[in-house]
Amino acid sequence: MSTVVRTPSRTTTQAEVKRDLSRLLDELERHVVCLGEEGITEVAGALPEEKQSPPAPVKAETNGRAELQAIALAVAACKKCPLHAKRHQAVPGQGSPNPDILFVGEGPGEDEDRQGLAFVGRAGQLLTRLIRRMGYTREQVFIANVVKCRPPENRKPMPDEIAECFPYLKAQIAALQPKVIVALGAVALEALVAPGVRISRLRGQWQTFGEIPLMPTYHPAYLLRNQSAMWDVWHDMQQVLERLVRSAPPSAKHR
Ligand code: SF4
Repeated sequence: MSTVVRTPSRTTTQAEVKRDLSRLLDELERHVVCLGEEGITEVAGALPEEKQSPPAPVKAETNGRAELQAIALAVAACKKCPLHAKRHQAVPGQGSPNPDILFVGEGPGEDEDRQGLAFVGRAGQLLTRLIRRMGYTREQVFIANVVKCRPPENRKPMPDEIAECFPYLKAQIAALQPKVIVALGAVALEALVAPGVRISRLRGQWQTFGEIPLMPTYHPAYLLRNQSAMWDVWHDMQQVLERLVRSAPPSAKHR
């Protein structure tokens, strides 16, 4: 049975996702040649060897790590939308190539743009605490954004910027095959489920991306301004843990 993957504009099959990925990898070959000519041989956030979690079962149909490296290199060279012009570094995302959970945020902020890593600023520190309370480390999950370059002044990404960048996220999902996706905030929810859906209505209610269960919850940046919403997010993450047949460590349950 073919896997159906829902995108913002239409429904595609797993076979189409693989064709998209194949086209992306073809583009990558051209980008890599350009990067080599510019003297670039490494990309920040592209899965450094020493940070990987212990070996996980090899996926039958994909070589997730190689595909993720290829996507990260393509993102580093990408100039498909105007956001490339003012970036210091593109931020492809980072983490385990075989994660239980893929967290998807909106786009890089100032700290992320400087470091080339997703969720490393104040909101990122809050996400790290949440991940630890769930019994994981950042290296055991994958953390990415809908757009890979920082929007100026941290504004929301425009629909055309999201449309240009979304194939990278779609390719990452195909490579990662996470057991659960957590959509952090409205931009991620709309990009992964459907334009116009509201985080205030769907938060805490299971959705799907293709056949992958997707839990919408608040963005950590929202939690920095509304700390009482942390209980809602923790409730959502407990649903994620139940889906994964895991429970939070005892120290987390009583906080
Ligand atoms: S935001 Fe995405 S589509 Fe736009 S330049 Fe960056 S990587 Fe390319």
